[in-house]
Amino acid sequence: MDLTLILTEKCNAKCRHCFEENCDYTADSLTMDISDAERYIDEIVAVGKQENKEVRLQFSGGEVFLVYDLMLHLTRYAKSKGIKSISCTTNGYWGKSLVDADVKVEKLVSAGITLFGISLDEFHQEYIDIDYVRNAIKTIQKYGVRIGIKTVLTKKSKRLSSVLQDIDDLLINKSIHCQSMSYIPYNSKSKIPLEDVLTEKTMPNEVCPSFVITILPNGVVFPCCSVGWTDNLILGNAQDDSLGKILKQLRSNIIFEILQDQGPIAFAKQMNLVNDCRLQEERFANYCHLCYSVFKSESLSLVLDDVITDWKRRRVDKILNILEE
Ligand code: SF4
Ligand code: SF4
Repeated sequence: MDLTLILTEKCNAKCRHCFEENCDYTADSLTMDISDAERYIDEIVAVGKQENKEVRLQFSGGEVFLVYDLMLHLTRYAKSKGIKSISCTTNGYWGKSLVDADVKVEKLVSAGITLFGISLDEFHQEYIDIDYVRNAIKTIQKYGVRIGIKTVLTKKSKRLSSVLQDIDDLLINKSIHCQSMSYIPYNSKSKIPLEDVLTEKTMPNEVCPSFVITILPNGVVFPCCSVGWTDNLILGNAQDDSLGKILKQLRSNIIFEILQDQGPIAFAKQMNLVNDCRLQEERFANYCHLCYSVFKSESLSLVLDDVITDWKRRRVDKILNILEE
């Protein structure tokens, strides 16, 4: 059972590919309230206990080290509540001074952080000095904590192998999980041209993997942290409702059942059958890009009933087939 807390919108970078439109290093940028965050942790732990499932907690932003004290406090808090898997995703800017980096990492590791996700690609490195990131990685390695490298790719950007050359000496005999993902044009103000998006040859037909309850600083809840935060996928507001209630609603929502059973392609196919509903894009970076395009489309409501009826029919057919066997 995964919970991601978007601790802040603040960031000290303005990456070209960023989907966080409000990303801004100002005092006005939204940061999660500490007591709200504690309550979300309490609620997810309670659901985990009820369902006998392990809880995994992620901190993300913006840049989470800009609200370091909040993250440190919540890490300690989460650990005290029995959460064993706690991670954060950072751009590594805090590695400017090895001494400061050491203090920060040591405290976080003692508090209970078990994984650091580091963003490393040409977009981040336009703002964050690679030497700072190297220092951050070296410091984390000193404490023996797991590291995951996340790299965003476009048609024209550096490939993962080339990005990793900047840290290749740090990879010798070390296990670092490296993951690349295609840039998704979530942000209409993005500076990356659409023709540079690395797209799949056919419409992605993967189903939605397990949901990751993701809470923004203002309490808005999404089913994952990769939806570009489209209003149509909002599950509720955790400042008003408990996570237990929101999760219950998610599980009984037929739209999410279809996403997990058939994937966003079920909606896209139906939309493309109807002239006025056709998706504007023809090629997609991956199934989450397709999902985003489907759910941000105003035409979705026009085909929703048909998709649900078709899915119910398929479900009945499936049951009948099983009974006949
Ligand atoms: S570091 Fe992350 S949050 Fe900040 S601008 Fe870059 S992609 Fe956005
Ligand atoms: S398919 Fe949609 S809901 Fe599922 S992870 Fe991707 S964007 Fe999120």
